[in-house]
Amino acid sequence: MGSVQIVTTILAAAITAVAVWLAVRAVMKMTAVIRLGQPAPERFTDKGARTRTMLVETAGHTRMLKWSVVGAAHWFVMVGFIVLSLLVLEAYFEVVTPTGGLPVVGHWTVFGLATEVIGVLGLVGILVLMAIRLRNRPTRPGGRSRFTGSTMWQGYFVEWIVLLVLIFGFVIRGFKVATDHFEYPLWATPVSHAVGAVLPDWQDGASVAALIKIVISMTWLIVISLNVTMGVAWHRFLAFPNIFFKREPAKPAGSGLGALRPMTSQGKPLDFEEADPEKDQFGVAQVEQFSWKGLLDFSTCTECGRCQSQCPAWNTGKPLSPKLLVLSLRDHAYAKAPYLLAGGGKDLTGEEKATAAQLAHMDVLALAEADKPLIGTAEEGGVIDPDVLWSCTTCGACVEQCPVDIEHVDHIVDMRRYQVLIESSFPSEAGVMLRNLENKGNPWGAPQNTREDWTKGLDFEVPRVGEVDDFEYLFWVGCAGAFEDRAKKTTRAVATLLNEAGVTFAILGEGETCSGDPARRIGNEFVFQMLAQQNVETLNEAFEGREKAKRKIVATCPHCFNTLGNEYGQLGGEFEVVHHTQLLAHLVSTGKLTPVQPVDGGVTYHDPCYLGRHNRVFAPPREVLGTAIEGELTEMPRNSERSFCCGAGGARMWMEEKIGKRINVDRVEEAMSTGAKTVAVGCPFCSTMLNDGVNGKGAGEQVEVVDVASVLLRSVRPEQPQGDKQAAPVAG
Ligand code: SF4
Ligand code: SF4
Repeated sequence: MGSVQIVTTILAAAITAVAVWLAVRAVMKMTAVIRLGQPAPERFTDKGARTRTMLVETAGHTRMLKWSVVGAAHWFVMVGFIVLSLLVLEAYFEVVTPTGGLPVVGHWTVFGLATEVIGVLGLVGILVLMAIRLRNRPTRPGGRSRFTGSTMWQGYFVEWIVLLVLIFGFVIRGFKVATDHFEYPLWATPVSHAVGAVLPDWQDGASVAALIKIVISMTWLIVISLNVTMGVAWHRFLAFPNIFFKREPAKPAGSGLGALRPMTSQGKPLDFEEADPEKDQFGVAQVEQFSWKGLLDFSTCTECGRCQSQCPAWNTGKPLSPKLLVLSLRDHAYAKAPYLLAGGGKDLTGEEKATAAQLAHMDVLALAEADKPLIGTAEEGGVIDPDVLWSCTTCGACVEQCPVDIEHVDHIVDMRRYQVLIESSFPSEAGVMLRNLENKGNPWGAPQNTREDWTKGLDFEVPRVGEVDDFEYLFWVGCAGAFEDRAKKTTRAVATLLNEAGVTFAILGEGETCSGDPARRIGNEFVFQMLAQQNVETLNEAFEGREKAKRKIVATCPHCFNTLGNEYGQLGGEFEVVHHTQLLAHLVSTGKLTPVQPVDGGVTYHDPCYLGRHNRVFAPPREVLGTAIEGELTEMPRNSERSFCCGAGGARMWMEEKIGKRINVDRVEEAMSTGAKTVAVGCPFCSTMLNDGVNGKGAGEQVEVVDVASVLLRSVRPEQPQGDKQAAPVAG
């Protein structure tokens, strides 16, 4: 060992020792913070599916590749990081001797070739990612950036580190080539040979370059260890467990969508017949009341801003960005952690848990952080502003886009639950809806005895459950479908088409109440459980004696469809629920319904969030329209998984939209930009919102918003297109 190697070895060992010590400390700190969260035993089930999904999502980059260029570039960088970590390890042999290499594999041509290829592709990948970050930098002139609010220096830092590590990998090899100590042939390592051709014949070059590579790598480790909230770096490690522990590992997409998690206390679902707010946790009022998976979610955020770029609230000038919400919760959790780890925290009655002695030497910043209300205005020093919390439509675009499977909607609803159930703090205009749900069983407050008014004037009988012995489908009409004028047209159109196709069905009539979706999404789990339990009982009675496959329900409202199909199981109601567009697509494809006259004038389709993203029903409505319209369906730029919300979900239908541009107007402008004369929908709320948007733009004469079922009915029964215009006046 020469004098240069003695120095390089000592320096490499010293910086590595410091970096490893700091990294171990950082990992222990992160683990301690995540463990502060509430139990989540359900995350440990189904380990086989969890492992498979984690491997598919990480190795296959299935979620990242939805954005193909970024996804491909990131894949090469990820593979580069994993494989080229071996080359960082090899650098430790090279600081000791310039001709050193990894034992065993370090002499294989295959290893030389693989690392050469991955090194080159990694270089290309990181340059692409750097260019994308620069092109989308928040300070660029014009336009909103998905990186707005991200900690930009961290992203640049990580990218430069990757770039330099890759470059120095080739420099080390180049010195070995230049000094004739390189074992791999030219054909396997052409770039290394090319670099070697321009480097001097310096015998110590490889050792010095290896030291620089180690210093760069360890600088990265030191910096991220000193910044445990640096998700852009830590996600390399945290993404694996975060994906492994996601809510429903068997779901290929939208694991955090569809059903909401039940309200839990100490990891157990709460039953309101026994729950006690002094003993049980009602929603989330303190950051440590999220589950440990929630805290892991916050720690894993890469700050990529994909969620932000798709969020309807953010895109229409509201203060909510799912990314910024997650970052605020993360920063708050880590800043408050010293206080919590010292034994601090409030019990459910609001009393301090720690003794004065425990908090005596507490960092004042941690104490100040602990004093912040989780939900509060800037003046109150709140972590999350109420306007942020209530701007969410629960559309799920954030969850859909997140490459590391963060479950934003669950966290938002958990915070809403506390605000509604304990603080009674929510937008006042939604109070009428909640009162109507409690007193009348529907959000409009319409009299229950008008639930069947939509059947009046139909040229066939609509039977009630109990009046007929056998029916294939229970037609769940929904409150909008029963009481709201436009939605009643859809209800009538669906009933007419089912009758035409010879499908036997029955309704619950006055036995039906609201599914509970708006109550649950606003955070009122108590009212949700009350309504849902009543409905589950009614439905179980209606289907008594039938196995699950024969407990078939068809619903026109995607919110009811989602609640009945995905959430009633939490309360003992197991049903086979389909959306009417699915059933109609089946009836058309099996020849039970025959469109005879295509509807013309250009048609576009708006995907309802709770049908599309939340339940992956993208094709059936398009199939129905494909058979019923003239020419091709005109897609809006944002469609299917990336569809843009109408603004009504998450109980926003019953709240005023006071901030920014109206979401429905944004969507209507997009629909109108296609030139289509018909905007087809599959949801009564979307219908209301888009109709309001069209009318607000004074385009009611030129553009019609209408349900897919009505479009099909016009095509199946062209001689009687007014069938859906016979609805009785709106009740209540
Ligand atoms: S659910 Fe929709 S509105 Fe809510 S934060 Fe996510 S993207 Fe935004
Ligand atoms: S998409 Fe996921 S990882 Fe990216 S900023 Fe949003 S929450 Fe963070």
